[in-house]
Amino acid sequence: MKIAVVGAGIIGITTAYELALDGHEVTVYEKNNSVAELSSFATGGSLAASLTQAFSHTVWPKSGALVRFVSSAAMLPRKELFSMSAFRWALAWGKVLSLEQFQSNFSANANLLNQSVTRLGEICHAEKIEFEQSSGQLVLLRSEADLNVPSTKFAALKELGIAHKTLGDAELSNTEPSLNCSEDIQSAVYFPGDLVGNCRQFAQLLKDKAVAAGAKFVFNTSVNSIKCNPRVDLSLMGTPEAIQFDCIVLCTGEALAELAEPLKIKVPLMAAHAYSLSALMREPLNGPRSAIFDAKDGIGIARIGNRIRATGGAKIGRPTAGDRKKAQEKLYRAIQRFFPGAATLSNSTQFWQSSTLISADSMPVIGETDVPRVYINVGHGFNGWGMACGSARMLADDLSQHVQANRTATFSPRRFKR
Ligand SMILES: Cc1cc2nc3c(=O)[nH]c(=O)nc-3n(C[C@H](O)[C@H](O)[C@H](O)COP(=O)(O)OP(=O)(O)OC[C@H]3O[C@@H](n4cnc5c(N)ncnc54)[C@H](O)[C@@H]3O)c2cc1C
Repeated sequence: MKIAVVGAGIIGITTAYELALDGHEVTVYEKNNSVAELSSFATGGSLAASLTQAFSHTVWPKSGALVRFVSSAAMLPRKELFSMSAFRWALAWGKVLSLEQFQSNFSANANLLNQSVTRLGEICHAEKIEFEQSSGQLVLLRSEADLNVPSTKFAALKELGIAHKTLGDAELSNTEPSLNCSEDIQSAVYFPGDLVGNCRQFAQLLKDKAVAAGAKFVFNTSVNSIKCNPRVDLSLMGTPEAIQFDCIVLCTGEALAELAEPLKIKVPLMAAHAYSLSALMREPLNGPRSAIFDAKDGIGIARIGNRIRATGGAKIGRPTAGDRKKAQEKLYRAIQRFFPGAATLSNSTQFWQSSTLISADSMPVIGETDVPRVYINVGHGFNGWGMACGSARMLADDLSQHVQANRTATFSPRRFKR
């Protein structure tokens, strides 16, 4: 089939690769002049089935999470809070508050992350891709509230076969020798299967493999509109004639609404933003071996090659200038607190902010929409890098009808209509 993929973030690249591998004629259109220039640029690097990333689950029943979640929605500017899309999102969100629904969504996400990490390994092996990565993540619990939520969550992860272990002091310093344990750490849980990897570097390397498999990339080109009649006509900015495709896959990240709304594709998705701060390691021995996550402040710190990267400040809605400054200071303080001496702020320190879409049930939205031949692969929240390879394979299987519908039904855009 002749397929257009819109967007060359990590989701678009992995999707284009899988579709090209299946023998389709793939063309990727990207606004920017390179791959992974928006949300996939400087992620925390976490590919974690432990689901530590912010908003990985909308609520954790019987905990303070519901209150925290609702209060984070208050961060939304008035205009966004009272918009039709916010209303649609809140309606869909209300339907997933039952414990059963929550548990089934939680395991679906954890399984997708697991499958994704497996697929990433297969791709790296088959394509001989080497990129900056490390394994293992330590979750630090520093307050009573932190201790309450994870006991239920960790039990659910155990049932799903996600290996983890509570570490004693000696094991803690063997696992992360440079971690400053004088901080108020009450307990630390280690997830050996969680990975950390450089998302942008992998995207760049995989783009070349997608090209080798036959995919074509068109940069500096914005897709302006889509018409379905019954094949798919794409209008590109600055090009008078539409281009025909058999189908289209929208991997546009947060810009989905621009192309989807005119087609009346309505999926309950809400923007959230977060920040990362990356600094060259002044003394690598003082940095993390792999990654830690501070549950109290919601900050992850990871080694990405010769840099240390702190990620956090996740909030629903768009950031203000004041938010940016506070987030930058907080991330820097976290590095100094947990890995003193690993890095100092300099001209080469990179502070970055970006947005991502979160679906009302915290699961990505993958598959064909109500408009035949229009597919989407979006809404991965803060797990887009972790879920990319699995989501792309799932979409390609769905599109090529390699699997029974029930595998893709869980993540289908149509689930919100049920
Ligand atoms: C601070 C931060 C830290 C994060 N940390 C992690 C982490 O540790 N682990 C993890 O798994 N996830 C993490 N995430 C989430 C992850 O970054 C995203 O889920 C993921 O990058 C989304 O990828 P994407 O390809 O959907 O979007 P993007 O990377 O934003 O790509 C979408 C692309 O589509 C293009 N586009 C849009 N509209 C058009 C159009 N009309 N025409 C042409 N091109 C178009 C855009 O230019 C863009 O390049 C983090 C996010 C942030 C903000």
